[in-house]
Amino acid sequence: MYEGVVQDLIDELGRLPGVGPKSAQRIAFHLLQADPADVHRLAAILNEVKAKVKFCSVCFNVSEEETCRICRDPRREPSVLCVVEEYKDVVAIERTREFRGRYHVLGGAISPIDGIGPDQLRIRELVQRLNDPAITEVILATDPNLEGEATATYLTRQLGPLGLKVTRLASGLPVGGDLEYADEVTLGRAFAGRRAAE
Ligand SMILES: [Zn+2]
Repeated sequence: MYEGVVQDLIDELGRLPGVGPKSAQRIAFHLLQADPADVHRLAAILNEVKAKVKFCSVCFNVSEEETCRICRDPRREPSVLCVVEEYKDVVAIERTREFRGRYHVLGGAISPIDGIGPDQLRIRELVQRLNDPAITEVILATDPNLEGEATATYLTRQLGPLGLKVTRLASGLPVGGDLEYADEVTLGRAFAGRRAAE
C-alpha cells in the first residue's frame, strides 16, 4: 500500500480492463516520473473524450454527433445491416472495405456466466429498426466464439419470422477469438462468402 493519492491512482488504474495490480503499479510510477506536460495532455484527452463522444442514436456506434458518420453517409447501401457486438468490430469491418451497408452495435454478446441476456443488449432497438422496409438483409457478424455463436443463434430465431434474408459470416475466421483480431483479408473473405443463417 502506498500513501494517499498514489494508492488512489493505482486503484483507479487497476479498474481498467486488462490491467492487473502489477501493471497498475507500473503505470502509476511511470506517470509519477513523467513530464508534467505529457500527463496533462493525457488528462485533457480523457476529459475531452468523455465530454465529446456519444453513441449514435440509430446504430449505437461511437459518434461525436447525434448520429454517426456511417449512418449520415448517403452513399451507404440502405438495404444491408451488419450486426456486431462492439464498436471496435465496426472499425475492423470498415478496414476490409468489403461492406457498404450500415451497422447495428449490440453492446456485447449473450453470456449467462456474466449475467448478460438478450435484454441487456440492443436487440429491441434492432428489431425496431428492421421495420424499415428498405432493409432486406441482416448480416450477423458476432465474434467467432461461444458467446458470439449463442448471440447469432438467438438472433437468427428472433429475426426469422420477419421475412428478411439473415446471413452469417463464412467460416475461416479464427475460432475462439474476437472479430477484431482477424486480419483484413480473412475478414473480407468471410464477408464475401457469407451464407444463410440456420
Ligand atoms: Zn450510426
